[in-house]
Amino acid sequence: MANTRYAYVRDFELPDPLLPGVFMLLRLDGHSFHRFSDKHEFIKPNDVRALKLMDHAAKDIMEEYPDIVLAFGESDEYSFLLRKATTLYNRRQSKIVSTLTSYFTSCYVFRWLHYFPDVPLQYPPSFDGRIVLYPTQKHIRDYFAWRQADTHINNLYNTTFWALVQQEGQTTAEAHATLKGTYSKDKHELLFSRFGINYNKLDAQFRKGSVLLNEASPMTIASVPKPSSPMPMEGKKEKKAKSKKAQRQQHQKKAKIEVLHCDIIGNEFWDGRPEILE
Ligand code: ATP
Ligand code: ATP
Ligand code: MG
Ligand code: MG
Ligand code: MG
Ligand code: MG
Repeated sequence: MANTRYAYVRDFELPDPLLPGVFMLLRLDGHSFHRFSDKHEFIKPNDVRALKLMDHAAKDIMEEYPDIVLAFGESDEYSFLLRKATTLYNRRQSKIVSTLTSYFTSCYVFRWLHYFPDVPLQYPPSFDGRIVLYPTQKHIRDYFAWRQADTHINNLYNTTFWALVQQEGQTTAEAHATLKGTYSKDKHELLFSRFGINYNKLDAQFRKGSVLLNEASPMTIASVPKPSSPMPMEGKKEKKAKSKKAQRQQHQKKAKIEVLHCDIIGNEFWDGRPEILE
């Protein structure tokens, strides 16, 4: 098959390696989930089933790809940080984006029935995916802060919006008009005075999004110091077999994904986990 006269078309496939030594950030977002959530009767403003399904798909992908060291999810989106030194698929951009986006989407569909036993899928959902490279730790901190700040702003708006619609009977247009030009503190005040809702007491899952950590990330293993004098008798083959075995064991150690709903804007989260940004 290799050398037919047609094979030259292969030369049009250009390599797309990602710069080495920089952080890779993959963000997925549900395609037209405004419509999807409508068609599948998501509870507004926050359908817990849908959030848990997203979290589960994210957990699946982190188990499959141990080079993902941190993930953050809100609404129909998820961000995944790959460790700086990852050599996943030789850092080929489209291979990584397409395979991981596809895997996440499959897991979402695969687990649908578990979270929505009474809601048949009306049509196949899809997600878009992109990779952004960030050179410094500060960029990564700011990236995650940006997403969590977004979660907060959206959730405050949506919580107030849906309270006006569901509890006060405003139309969606009226609710939008009510909230036009309001600041954060106005929405807090409105929620409390008209609906008795103390925003800060709402479920952290809604206010903070989901933070997923790999407790058995390869860095924990990689950071174990190597013996200073490797055994001289060890042949290449043996070493290769050993490293394969180590890789397998590493993969087996994968299943420790922790799901948190904590603050990732301040220093505390990061100070306690310097290995994430190694
Ligand atoms: P695009 O294809 O450009 O991403 P979109 O319709 O998916 O368009 P988004 O900005 O991604 O737009 O917003 C996703 C929408 O999905 C939210 O506005 C919300 O209506 C809905 N949604 C997602 N997750 C949930 C959830 N857990 N509960 C309720 N609604 C949700
Ligand atoms: P990569 O992840 O790099 O694509 P791969 O294992 O998928 O690796 P491909 O070159 O894409 O390698 O080859 C796909 C393989 O899948 C084929 O070699 C064949 O063994 C198998 N396969 C795919 N479709 C069929 C089919 N309909 N019947 C039998 N085997 C199939
Ligand atoms: Mg979008
Ligand atoms: Mg979307
Ligand atoms: Mg979105
Ligand atoms: Mg293939």
